[in-house]
Amino acid sequence: MQNKKYKYRVSFPHIGNYYVPIYNWFSNILDKNTTKIIIPKKMSKQTLEFGSNNSPDFICLPFKYNVGNFIESLNQGANVLVQAGGGCKYGYYAELQEQILKDMGYDFKYITLVEKGKIKPFKIYKKFKELNPNLTFFKFIYRFCVAALIAYFLDKFEDYIRLNISYEEKIGKFEVIHKIFLLKLRNIKSISQLFKVKNKYMKKLKNIKLISKEDRNEKIKIGIIGELFTSMEQFSSNNIEKKLNKLGAATKRYTTVTYLLVKKPLEMKRLIKKSKKYIEYELGADGTTSVAHAIELADNGYDGIIHIKPFGCTPEENAIPILQKISKDKNIPIMYLTFDTQNSDTALDTRLEAFYDMLVMNKEKKKVDVLDNKEALDG
Ligand code: SF4
Repeated sequence: MQNKKYKYRVSFPHIGNYYVPIYNWFSNILDKNTTKIIIPKKMSKQTLEFGSNNSPDFICLPFKYNVGNFIESLNQGANVLVQAGGGCKYGYYAELQEQILKDMGYDFKYITLVEKGKIKPFKIYKKFKELNPNLTFFKFIYRFCVAALIAYFLDKFEDYIRLNISYEEKIGKFEVIHKIFLLKLRNIKSISQLFKVKNKYMKKLKNIKLISKEDRNEKIKIGIIGELFTSMEQFSSNNIEKKLNKLGAATKRYTTVTYLLVKKPLEMKRLIKKSKKYIEYELGADGTTSVAHAIELADNGYDGIIHIKPFGCTPEENAIPILQKISKDKNIPIMYLTFDTQNSDTALDTRLEAFYDMLVMNKEKKKVDVLDNKEALDG
């Protein structure tokens, strides 16, 4: 295999489009002469099949996807796997994944970035220095900062698309610019180049013609809350955002890497305070934010909310009874979706269409009620 000419073949798990900053980081801290970065295959039915056939039955779905991803990369010749680790039960899964893959006969080096819930930059640097002895700590950190900025701009870019894609006058323009932007980000060399690319493509995005403001106000707005993996890796939730956008709804999703690593830790206390009618303590993982964001979406006039989670996700299961109460108190419909290894696209389409139609009817009814009230007041 041509890969074998490289001493190290490094791979990592897929999640949304974050392979772009990760690829940028690794390709700039590792030696091109000795190391090849294997971008993991996009999630597919085969990834899930590999993962579920080789994982314990009742383990969280993201674990299975990761195992499947690793098997695909190992089959492509990878011999170094990097796993983020950290967070909820997931923080304890790294050792198990390593053991499963080694028991399957694969020979590889396993690097975990988060250990016992802590990120220790110097320790991680030392692991990468074993792959590239010429790597300096400064370069390691600088290139990490560039990659983090790439992730930040990517999140901003995709947030804008989610909110506006169902308003575009000519369907397909957002998607084209998105694809080119991803390609450009992958090979960014410096922070100044990153700003130039971001400004250029953000401008292109904002120049895309949208339907009129009146027509936009008529559209249904749906907030998506829930567990992080199913939120950020669209394959694992059957591309729910695209499906909703296709139906004509604008979607908002809070969960992104930027949100999880930067904003969430800073605003956790405020979120609990704001949700004090419903919760007193953290629910773990994304449970607290699901509750707080449901309140925010209802207060901001969203037409409906969809709560998504993988099968067996305890923090989100704990959030559901609270969300049901919020839905009742604030009169906002919430649909609950659980994703597992066997998901039917047709069944999801039917449920989404029914939910969307109900929201359209609710919106119409609200308009009629406003008119009736006005007429009654006018006498
Ligand atoms: S948040 Fe849910 S899916 Fe993720 S590790 Fe925790 S229990 Fe598993």
